[in-house]
Amino acid sequence: MDRMRLATREQAHRTLESVLALTGVGLWEWDLIDGWIGGDARLEAILALPDAEWRRLSIERWAERVHDEDRPRFDAEAARAERGAGFDAVYRLRRGDGHWIWVHDRSGVFYHDAGGRPVRLVGVLEDVTQRQEERRRWVRLARSIPGVIYTFVLDAEGRPSFPYTSDRVKDFYGVTPEQVQRDPSLVFDAIHPEDLSRVMESIELSARTLEDWQCEYRARAGEDWHWVEGRSSPERQPDGSTIWHGLIFLIDQRKELEARLRHLSVTDALTGLYNRRHLLACMEEEMSRFRRYGTPFSVVMFDLDNFKRINDRHGHAAGDAVLKRLAAILEERLRETDIAGRTGGEEFLLLLPGTEASGGERIAEDLCAVMVDEPFCSEEKGPFRVTLSAGVTEAIETDERLHHLWARADRALYRAKAAGRNRVCRG
Ligand code: GH3
Ligand code: MG
Ligand code: MG
Repeated sequence: MDRMRLATREQAHRTLESVLALTGVGLWEWDLIDGWIGGDARLEAILALPDAEWRRLSIERWAERVHDEDRPRFDAEAARAERGAGFDAVYRLRRGDGHWIWVHDRSGVFYHDAGGRPVRLVGVLEDVTQRQEERRRWVRLARSIPGVIYTFVLDAEGRPSFPYTSDRVKDFYGVTPEQVQRDPSLVFDAIHPEDLSRVMESIELSARTLEDWQCEYRARAGEDWHWVEGRSSPERQPDGSTIWHGLIFLIDQRKELEARLRHLSVTDALTGLYNRRHLLACMEEEMSRFRRYGTPFSVVMFDLDNFKRINDRHGHAAGDAVLKRLAAILEERLRETDIAGRTGGEEFLLLLPGTEASGGERIAEDLCAVMVDEPFCSEEKGPFRVTLSAGVTEAIETDERLHHLWARADRALYRAKAAGRNRVCRG
């Protein structure tokens, strides 16, 4: 029986030995009473200390080999161990051959004396240099990416968490990865209130359908709002939670470009007023409002008088200046809801929502008067005056198509020209 137990014990020891050999960890013992520290052959191999040093190894001598930056952490753990509370630290250690290695050093295994006082501590030390290097490479890589890399989790009850966010979360949301880990709501607090419900809905949709998440929204780091785009792929976990791995990146420049392109596509380059295409789209909208709710609207179509002559006499540049000045006058005088556009060379159109023809007529008359009084001047020929003629009309029940209204305004304008110019006619 005893022999069998012995055999089993030896076997268990051998098994433990081969498992330890597989893991590559070194074993150490620290005698808390006389201060002596010893290790097994694997620990000797990891540390490569000269024999002389092994013979008088103490916690103080060990600490001398710990990297300065890691000393506070090491000392705190050593103090904890001496109180019998265990040891767990990752730190840099200088080997006997002078090389620095990263080690993970931990223990909670104490031997106690009869009085229950911890007298000996046994622990394991693992060379984690490669893992640390990989981690540092990963951190460097994450830093070089112009965005936040993150892992986001919604648990089965729908509670959010951010187990991992790269350092850049600070630039995007003004919070550190540690803060986000403790309190995921900080991220949502930094999203623009106008965009938040859209962001939440897109996350819910992605969780439900397991389709990739993609969303553009504004976020804040400190006082500054910026546009970001988030992209990630969801995975359902066996416990019912959903996990997304993804990236958030800045899209301010793209948003700016999009806005510029949108602006360019609806405006006229010379005057900055809306172009014909955009005016037509706006008129279609007004027309359908008129049909649905009976909301009136009118249009003023106008054309500069004898503009060819002005160009010929004062030069094309002076002509351009007139067109620009007219645009500025329109911007100054029109209401926020009025829409002014350039429909052709020296032809313009005002779309006046909620305004009947009589109101449109008044606006056109005012514009004629302002234009007559506006002093223009060219370098070659000196001061000159410009007039305009306008045709005004409002939407009526029988306007089946937009061009009916357009044609009516056009005819009214033609009549104003035929009647001697610098006047308004109603159609
Ligand atoms: P009316 O009173 O009948 O409208 O006479 P008009 O000379 O204004 O009309 P017409 O259609 O004969 O000529 C329009 C002129 O407008 C010709 C063209 O050179 C000028 N024009 C068109 N677009 C521009 C522009 O962008 N800049 C300048 N400077 N002139 C332009
Ligand atoms: Mg003209
Ligand atoms: Mg014309």
